[in-house]
Amino acid sequence: MENNYLFGPVPSRRLGISLGVDLVPFKTCTLNCIYCECGKTTNLTVERKEYVPVREVLDQLSAYLNNEPELDYITFSGSGEPTLHSKIGEIISFIKENYPQYNVAVLTNGNLLPLESVRKQLKNADLIVPSLDAASEEAFQAINRPHSSLVCKDIISGLIQFREEFTGEISLEVFIVPGINTTEKELELLKTAIQSVKPDNVQIGTLDRPGTESWVKPASDEEMKKVAARLEHVEVITDFNSRKKVASFSEDMQQEIMTTVKRRPCTVKDLADILNSTVAEINKYLQVLLEENKIECEQQNRGNFFKAKK
Ligand code: SF4
Repeated sequence: MENNYLFGPVPSRRLGISLGVDLVPFKTCTLNCIYCECGKTTNLTVERKEYVPVREVLDQLSAYLNNEPELDYITFSGSGEPTLHSKIGEIISFIKENYPQYNVAVLTNGNLLPLESVRKQLKNADLIVPSLDAASEEAFQAINRPHSSLVCKDIISGLIQFREEFTGEISLEVFIVPGINTTEKELELLKTAIQSVKPDNVQIGTLDRPGTESWVKPASDEEMKKVAARLEHVEVITDFNSRKKVASFSEDMQQEIMTTVKRRPCTVKDLADILNSTVAEINKYLQVLLEENKIECEQQNRGNFFKAKK
């Protein structure tokens, strides 16, 4: 079977109806974040290359977009870092030249923005959503567990440089981990870094379902309010239910996931393989099922296993 590099469209709080494009194999990333909802990074790398064949991605995009689907965004995201793909720029340009009616978003950890080649390749996108969870090397190592070649201050410089060159929207995301990036010192450094980057907006979030490490706990509403007040001009993200209200949420897929995890506990990767989907898409459904208390998550050696609640 041919690999499918597109997923969704999925309804997203921020992006409306969004068609996902997944350009790297499962958990190929420059980071191994303690909160990653896709599990541990199995290929920790900074090597940029054509991880999946561009020709196949373009063919799949054409086949899909020629039907003129109703979409708000085409979004590069998935189960790894999309800017690791050396030809992401070519794919973005292809969309903008042939299907200019669609907006393009890139969800990235921003680690490769110090590279001029990466900044140039992203210039035709409409929206970039980089994350920045730490502004000190210590917190960066603790939360993001980066590839050994990455340095926190260089990444912040890359973000600043990108802001100077990029004319589209930059929406910065900060993931709050209580006790690590919530100290007075870390928040002060983060605030200064955000002020230097000058994103169009900043959103802060915290754990809403099991991450890679079970000891990572969500920040309380009160803590989130304090952090927001300290960082200033940031939006706290709390509502993760909106996707259920959108028509394209597939009740069938939800049912298939339930049927599968009733038979045996599965990782998100198992589910993606069994249901011929992608990790990113399965994750959207798992989030809703967890919120509805229909499934639970258990951490085992091979990762987080989801099973139906009795
Ligand atoms: S959260 Fe994003 S940046 Fe962090 S390990 Fe997961 S995929 Fe990589």
